[in-house]
Amino acid sequence: MITVLSGGTGTPKLLQGLKEIVNPKELTIIVNTLENNYFSGVYVSADIDTVLYTMADIINEDLWYGIKGDTFITNKKLDELGSPELLRIGDNDRAFKIQKTQLMREYGLADSVDIQAKKLDIKSKIIPMSEEQSEVSIITDIGELNFHDFLIKYQSKPEVLDIKFSNVSPYKGVIKAIKKSEMIIIGPSNPITSILPILSLEGVKEALKDCYVVAVSPIIGENPVSGPASKFMKALNIDVSSIGIASLYGDFLDEIIVDNKDNKLKDQIGKYVNKVTITNTIMNDLEDKRNLSELIINK
Ligand code: GDP
Repeated sequence: MITVLSGGTGTPKLLQGLKEIVNPKELTIIVNTLENNYFSGVYVSADIDTVLYTMADIINEDLWYGIKGDTFITNKKLDELGSPELLRIGDNDRAFKIQKTQLMREYGLADSVDIQAKKLDIKSKIIPMSEEQSEVSIITDIGELNFHDFLIKYQSKPEVLDIKFSNVSPYKGVIKAIKKSEMIIIGPSNPITSILPILSLEGVKEALKDCYVVAVSPIIGENPVSGPASKFMKALNIDVSSIGIASLYGDFLDEIIVDNKDNKLKDQIGKYVNKVTITNTIMNDLEDKRNLSELIINK
């Protein structure tokens, strides 16, 4: 069994490679739920939906959000009605979100995701990190913002001074999956808003100490490949580099995979983790994704 810790952009790219070379039944994906909330009357679990659509080969790869080729009839109508959506939801994507919202009334989040995964013929196990609602507050130079206002309304532009999120309990399958795994892969996701919420769950760090844990760095040089990770890392006084990533995960990390461009940092990264593997970590096409996956799996 291999377990992957995932957010909703960098790690899903890696999953596209992993699902080609690992028996899908041997793959479990624990997904961040920090951003989950209700929008436009439906429950939006953005990272979970991205992982579902990625594993079902229907993800919109331009945005790493929503379904490829989707239409936006309802979204446009809401505009006309004077109720524009903060999150632009496509029609097919909305159908999944409506179904999940309805299923959740009876089954809770994890079982609802399971039902949708089966409908999509996904053989891997996709589990939310928690079934509880996280409260997130981002302290910025323009005041305290919730996650989606920061990300969408303000387009991640404000300076981040601090981020606070409430403690939630791990979903019961989380620790079980980690304990059953011979390898845990921390995907190249935002270390603060996607991975830290999973690592902060009670018992996760302790469970990781007993497994082989390998992380792919989302930072190359002094910048993330995409997104606002650097703002969040700076706010928590973490060096924006693969050294910072290694220091953040160091307590339970056995191996880190960093980009060719960070070759010169190998010795400094090695202070925090036993094995530093250098390769191309930019995943532009399926070959990049497969090569990186093979390097992780086939030792
Ligand atoms: P979110 O949930 O949409 O914030 O997405 P994630 O947390 O899963 O991923 C965001 C992170 O993915 C960013 O910090 C990026 O640096 C990283 N990322 C995106 N594409 C790549 C890639 O091709 N290679 C690597 N190494 N990191 C990537």
